[in-house]
Amino acid sequence: MSDSGASSVDLEKIVSLAKRRGFIFQSSEIYGGLSSTWDYGPLGVELKRNIKDSWWRTFVWERDDMVGLDASILMHPDVWRASGHIQNFSDPLVDCKECRQRWREDQLEKPECPACGGELTDARNFNLMFKTFIGPIEDDSSVAFLRPETAQGIFVNFENVLNSTRKKLPFGIAQIGKAFRNEITTGNFIFRTREFEIMEIEFFVKPGEDEEWHKRWLDDCMSWYTDLGVSPDRLRVREHEGKELAHYAKATYDIEYQFPWGWGEIQGVANRTDFDLKAHSKASGTTLDYFDQEANERVVPYVIEPAAGVDRGLMAFLVDAYTEEEVATSSDKTETRVLLKFHPDLAPVKVAVLPLSRNEKLAPLAAEVYNMVRKSGAVNGFVQFDDAQSIGRRYRRQDEIGTPLCVTVDFDSLDDNAVTIRDRDTMNQVRVPIADLSAELAKGLSR
Ligand SMILES: [Zn+2]
Repeated sequence: MSDSGASSVDLEKIVSLAKRRGFIFQSSEIYGGLSSTWDYGPLGVELKRNIKDSWWRTFVWERDDMVGLDASILMHPDVWRASGHIQNFSDPLVDCKECRQRWREDQLEKPECPACGGELTDARNFNLMFKTFIGPIEDDSSVAFLRPETAQGIFVNFENVLNSTRKKLPFGIAQIGKAFRNEITTGNFIFRTREFEIMEIEFFVKPGEDEEWHKRWLDDCMSWYTDLGVSPDRLRVREHEGKELAHYAKATYDIEYQFPWGWGEIQGVANRTDFDLKAHSKASGTTLDYFDQEANERVVPYVIEPAAGVDRGLMAFLVDAYTEEEVATSSDKTETRVLLKFHPDLAPVKVAVLPLSRNEKLAPLAAEVYNMVRKSGAVNGFVQFDDAQSIGRRYRRQDEIGTPLCVTVDFDSLDDNAVTIRDRDTMNQVRVPIADLSAELAKGLSR
């Protein structure tokens, strides 16, 4: 595998599995679809929830220096004026005078239309924010924007959070939510879309401590991916070069994953300095700063911003979990087993309960076990019941969606009050008393 090259996983296989098993569908498909928009199906929504829950648990609940926020998507337009988005958040676009296609000037190799060779117009800045109108009148006074990032909702609430929580520096505010960018170039499945979800932290530190905290956050973010089982050799850190840096940033690191088409950013960790708090203080007239009691002085905190794409993370977890292996069949042949080796915390279905057959003698006990597993606190997530087709095919179906554990109720269960737990990765099966099932499942899911 070359350093900049693609991974060996076939993107088409991932897209096909995602649709077939209900992870991801094209949006508005029955109308021919809408370009670069995607819907999360019954398993996709579970996977996405589990990713967000894991992130929130790790970065909010398990830390002493974090609190949460959920700001609205629509904000006062002055927010985007102060943040620089109205002036600076744009791409230079040119139009072809012949065929009317539109291109990003900074991505062109020659000053002619890549499609027809036609002459191009001068570049105009095209703002990437989606514009809308609040209320019934569509004029300049009612313009609003769909937020292109969640960060500004945190900055404008800095004083509210500080006053209501009495947090001391350093501390951070976390938020998960949708953001919108009217990108000209989209693609690679759910990797680059115009509507996406971000898991973002603004971490406020004393000026001078920013560089140390920047490194610590980069390490903490990297550990979250590897703790959830992402192969370290498919992750790398890339530092932004001068002209690539955003207008507010002192330094930015990207965490990149090796996707089937090559390396792509799944998370940024930026040092935003005191740019945003100062800009909002100036524009709003409300001073956004912090009184440092030890030094007996007011400071404007510096901000470290770890920002992860939920959809991009999901794509990386999905690609990374995809595994094909050859296994022996009962008739001395081999077949390909497809499995998603999700970390148990992320698996969309935690446990599947499978009666050996649809025999009516098994049905009452199977239903009892299913209800017990669903309601036990040991399994924090979605539990499925499946009694269609042969047990072997049902195991394969669960392997293909990444279910860590299957519980099989068979005819012996009626006599010995025990069931079989099958492990997804090893395919090992162990017999456990139904009385111990909750404890055994909890053990099996805590890896
Ligand atoms: Zn053209």
